Amino acid sequence: MNNILLFGPQGSGKGTQGEKLAEQLNLPLVVTGNIFRHHMQEGTELGKLAKRFINKGELVPDEVTNRMIGERIQRADCEFGFILDGYPRNLDQAKALDGYTTITHLLHINISDEEAVQRIGNRRTCVENGHVYHLIYNPPKQEGVCDHDASELEQRADDSEEALKKRLAIYHDETEPLLEFYNQRNLVHDIDGEQSIDDVWKDVKSLF
Ligand code: AMP
Repeated sequence: MNNILLFGPQGSGKGTQGEKLAEQLNLPLVVTGNIFRHHMQEGTELGKLAKRFINKGELVPDEVTNRMIGERIQRADCEFGFILDGYPRNLDQAKALDGYTTITHLLHINISDEEAVQRIGNRRTCVENGHVYHLIYNPPKQEGVCDHDASELEQRADDSEEALKKRLAIYHDETEPLLEFYNQRNLVHDIDGEQSIDDVWKDVKSLF
């Protein structure tokens, strides 16, 4: 059983590495931000609620997020494990997650804030499924079009400089302290996220 958490600041490569790891281990990749964005696109009640917080760079309320993730990771496809990207993000969420399941690994992919700002400014995201690209280091084969599903690439509203600052602050204040919470269980693996995508992947792969 591999119940894996991906931690790291915005732009650390969680999405990119998560996709590779999900394929390698044949596990579902559960990306909280993508689930919210999907609901926003579909215009569901959850999407409307989430949008008010997401576009400002704030967290969606815990009660809503916890319920959504609890339901998702108890589905049949998570029977042999899952990879969670974007959850938990604070202590309340970590405690809720403990009520649902037992975590086996936490991969902490770290980069500096300066690197995060540089990367997010060049990030483009696929509208349909949230696949991510970097205009310089990981460009799509055809400009503006996703390699995987041919959908349009956009710059996310919350990748604006102002929203990003807020998101990084929340990461440092509320999410990073959780490393200690999981470190007490010896689950944390630190990975240098400022290497090339291939080198980060080597480090990630070596853990499984
Ligand atoms: P991300 O794509 O992981 O940067 O997430 C985008 C946005 O979705 C975040 O800035 C939050 O507004 C919301 N979000 C994602 N995951 C969570 C979470 N675990 N708790 C609350 N809000 C979340």
